[in-house]
Amino acid sequence: MNGSLTEILSIRSQADFDRAVDQAVSLLQQGQTVVLPTETVYGLAANAFSSAAVRRIFEIKRRPFSNPLIVHFTGQDMLDHCVRRWSPEAEQLGRAFWPGPLTLIALRSPHIPEVVTAGGDTVALRWPSHSFMQAVIQKCGFPLAAPSANLANRLSPTRAEHVKEQLDGTVPLIVDTGSAPVGIESTVVDLVSRPPALLRPGMISFPKLKTFVKNLEKSTATESSSVDRSPGRTTKHYAPRAKLIIGSWKDSCELEAFVRQFPYSRNAIGIVSYSVKCDPAGFAHCSLLPPEAENYASSLFSELHACDAAGSDLILVESPPPDAAWDGIRDRLTRASSTTGFELKDTERIDGRTRR
Ligand code: AMP
Ligand code: MG
Repeated sequence: MNGSLTEILSIRSQADFDRAVDQAVSLLQQGQTVVLPTETVYGLAANAFSSAAVRRIFEIKRRPFSNPLIVHFTGQDMLDHCVRRWSPEAEQLGRAFWPGPLTLIALRSPHIPEVVTAGGDTVALRWPSHSFMQAVIQKCGFPLAAPSANLANRLSPTRAEHVKEQLDGTVPLIVDTGSAPVGIESTVVDLVSRPPALLRPGMISFPKLKTFVKNLEKSTATESSSVDRSPGRTTKHYAPRAKLIIGSWKDSCELEAFVRQFPYSRNAIGIVSYSVKCDPAGFAHCSLLPPEAENYASSLFSELHACDAAGSDLILVESPPPDAAWDGIRDRLTRASSTTGFELKDTERIDGRTRR
C-alpha cells in the first residue's frame, strides 16, 4: 500500500483499546500487516500461518528473506500448533519467563510456512506479555510473525513516532500505547543446537537462564558461519543514522576532553551518558539515562532516535558497566557502533581519562 494513508490509533481508554483490537484483527484476518506494541519494541505483525501475509513484512522492511522472523503466540494450544517437539528445557524456560521478553528456538511444525523460518527447520517463538499484543493474538486465533517495525538494519522503534518516521504510508495501521517498557529486543535462546546456545542477549540475562539450563552456552558463531541461524547477530545491526562511538568518562572534564577528539561541531554531536550529566549547551542532544540496567534499557533507543532526530552526525555513548545484567545493552550498542568509520585502536585515545 505504498503512498496510502497510515492510521495511528492512540490507546487512552478501554474503549480505544477494544476498538483498536477489532481493527487490527480485521486487517490481520485480511492478510495485511499492522504495527503493534509489544513489551520489547514495536512489531510489524502478520498472520504467521500465511506465506503471502508474511512476505509483505519482508517487503515493507526491505529485510532479506534469509533473516527468519519471530512468531508471537499466546497459550499452549497455539504453541503446540507451531512446534514439532517441545523439550523439557523449553518447558522449563517457558514456565519461568513467559509471557515475557524471551524467544526460544524449537523445531518447526508444518503449519509454519518456510518464509517465516528462512527455509530452516527451526522456528523462533515468543509469548509476549504486552496486553494489547495478547488481546490481538487471542482474538485472531492464529500466531503473528512480528519482527521489529523498522527498516532492515535500522534502530528498533520503542515509540509509535519512531515507527511513523520509517514506515509511514507503507502500513495501514500503527497502534500507539506509548513507550515499550523493556526497550530492547528479546533474549534469543536456541534449544535445538547441542549444547543449547544464547544467540542474542537481552534483558533476561545469561546467569538467570543458566539456573534453568545448566549447559547453556553463549553462542560463538559469527556472521561468517556458513549457516547463520540468527542474522540478528551480524556485526552491523540495530544502528542509528549517526555514527555511534562508545567511550568512557568519569566527570564532565573528561567528557569534554573526549568530545574534543572528534572533528565534529558540537551541534552535530549527541551524548548519551548515565554517570555524568553533560551541559547541553551547543550539543544536538544530551541525555542522562538511569544507571540501572532495566531503566536504562527502556529509554536507550528513544534517546538514540532523539539524537538522530536532533540532527546528530555523531553519538557518543558512555560505555556500559561490565556486569551480566547489561549484556543485552552492550550487545546492541556494540552492533550500532561497529561501522563507525573511525580507527580508534588506542583505547587511551578514545578514553577521555587522562593518563595517570
Ligand atoms: P527481529 O528482527 O528484531 O525480530 O529479530 C529476530 C531475531 O530472531 C533475529 O536475530 C533472527 O535472526 C532470530 N531468529 C528468528 N528465527 C530464528 C531461527 N529459526 N533460528 C535462529 N534465530 C532466529
Ligand atoms: Mg529487528
